[in-house]
Formats: sequence, C-alpha cells, structure tokens
Amino acid sequence: MKSITLIKGDGIGPEIAESVLEIIDSSGLVIDWDIQTAGADVIAKEQTPLPDRVIESVIKTGIALKTPITTPIGKGFRSVNVQLRKELDLYANVRPSYNLPGIKTCYDNVDIIVVRENTEDLYAGIERQIDENTAESIKRITRFASLRIADFAFNYALRNNRKEVCVVTKANICKLSDGLFLNCARETAKRFPQINFREILVDNCCMQLVQNPNQFDVLLLPNLYGDIVSDLCAGLIGGLGIAQGANIGTDCAVFEPVHGSAPDIAGQNKANPTALLMSAIEMLSYIGENDIGYKIKTALFETLRAGIMTPDIGGNYSCSKFTNEIIKRLRCII
Ligand code: ATP
Repeated sequence: MKSITLIKGDGIGPEIAESVLEIIDSSGLVIDWDIQTAGADVIAKEQTPLPDRVIESVIKTGIALKTPITTPIGKGFRSVNVQLRKELDLYANVRPSYNLPGIKTCYDNVDIIVVRENTEDLYAGIERQIDENTAESIKRITRFASLRIADFAFNYALRNNRKEVCVVTKANICKLSDGLFLNCARETAKRFPQINFREILVDNCCMQLVQNPNQFDVLLLPNLYGDIVSDLCAGLIGGLGIAQGANIGTDCAVFEPVHGSAPDIAGQNKANPTALLMSAIEMLSYIGENDIGYKIKTALFETLRAGIMTPDIGGNYSCSKFTNEIIKRLRCII
C-alpha cells in the first residue's frame, strides 16, 4: 500500500481535503494517508505553524497532497508554503491551466503550463526596515537555481510534447537579476533545439494573456511573476477553484492547488474541491496510478459537463453535494 502525506491546512483546507479523500476512497484505491496538520491552528500547541513532523513525514513518504495554509498579510509568521518549498527544496512549481468541460469562460482554447522557480527571488524573505518610512526586500536570483528551473521547463516540454518555452522577465528594468534568469534560459534553450524558445516581458505577457492566451504554451518565470501570472491563467479558465498545481523537487513532490485558504468562505460548505482534486489526479499519475486518475477525472468532467458546479464557477451545489455527484458517476465507471 502506498504511503502519502496529507498536509491539512486551515481555512477551506479541511473541507476540500475531506471531499478529495472521499472521492479517492470511492475509487477503490487504498492509500496509507499520513495526516499532518499545519498552519495557524497548530501554533498554540506546537509553537510553530510548520512542525518538524510535517517535513519528516514528506521526506519519509516522498510525496504529499497539501491543502492551503493561510499566510498572514504584512505581519505574523513567515509563509508556511514558502518555508515548506524551501526546506524540501521543491524547486519547480508546475501550474497547468486548461479549459474544463462545462465551465463558460471568455476563451475555449487555453492550454498553458506555468513553470515557476520556487526557491528564491523576492520569496527568499530577505527584508529589512531601514527606518520608520523605508523598507527594502532583496530580489535574489542565482545562476544555479535559474539553470535548474530552465532545464526542468525544457525537459517538461519535451516529455509532454509541448512546442515552445517562453521565458518571462522584466530584464529591461531588473537588468542584473532578471537578466541572469533570462541568460540562463537562453543558454539552456540551445540544448533543446526541438523546442521553440521565446522571450517576453512580464507586463506585455499579462496583456497578451488576456487578449490572446492560445499563443502561449509553456511559460518559464522567476518566483514572483510566476505566482502572479499563474493566478491570471487560473482566471482565464474559470478561477482559482479549479486551478491545480505541483511542487517538484529532486527527492519529493508536493501537490497542491494554486489557491489560498479562502478564509472568506471557510466553513460554509461552498468551497470548490476541483483544484485539489485535479492536483490529486496529477499526483496519482506521478505515482503510476494513471488508470484510477483517469477514471476520477472522467467522473469529475462528466459532473461538470452536466452543469453540476459550486458557486465560484456559476453553479449552486455545495462542496459536499458536488462531491457526492462525482462519486455517483465514479461508481458507474469503476
Ligand atoms: P494566497 O496568497 O494565500 O495564495 P490568495 O490571496 O490567492 O491567497 P485565496 O485564498 O486563494 O487568496 O482566495 C482568493 C479568492 O478566490 C477568494 O475570494 C476565495 O473565496 C476564492 N477561492 C479560492 N479558492 C477557492 C475554492 N477552492 N473554491 C471557491 N472559491 C475559492
């Protein structure tokens, strides 16, 4: 039986985790879940939002499914998500955005993979208060991390029959830091003549994505732009409720939705579990359970095609009723 860590965060985390666990359970696949809680709710007892036991569990199992964890804005503890990615050296954040059946959006031909560098840039957390009125953050970009993520993006493109990698920077302004990232991408591109290579500035990229998203294939970005542009791509396909993601390292992988903990709807049975479910389906394929993953995806797509949806994508089904509808269809397929 495969052991997988389930990192249960806060906000809508517990509701969507329950939904996805129920669906996987109904598929007949037996997983030995090592359930680890993290986030604001464990601080009182363990004095940290990310206890060592969570990291130790992922190192042991090598794979985790993770629900969101709230990051306090402007104060409080350091982002647990960022800390986890750093400690486990999950250097590649892969966020696919493509149209799902039944969900009406402005475009019906979006199919974009965002590959985001996950360990440095402004997320390194090197900040200081100079005086009461001045603060600064260091944007750290290294050759090592830039070459590593570029290599990942091109290999991903090759393995998945993608045609192009487009590197996205602001190298005309951040000439040294983004300039280094861009040069590493250029250097790497030379080793992959089969893949078309393109360069674009991040502001133009956002405008082009909104006007004509189907011109893009694989986008390669430093950490901050990757975070922002992947939310934009999620918006193109119907919103954060359906946007999946994965954090890949050399020794382990953590699958998690693009969205945050959505505190505004937590505990109301309104959350859309699709983003976590799609992340879990990707995780199943990663561990070689492609057949089960395909069946779950078919049940999900049939449910959406029938117009059964949560409120964030225009439906009126609660999280639990939506889950039951997927399970009903899954039982007919299994
Ligand atoms: P973070 O910075 O932690 O990633 P965020 O600022 O991107 O968080 P979210 O918590 O993702 O914010 O929420 C943004 C909006 O999207 C909120 O209105 C939230 O309710 C909605 N949202 C996010 N995830 C879902 C979901 N699974 N189902 C329904 N609505 C969602």
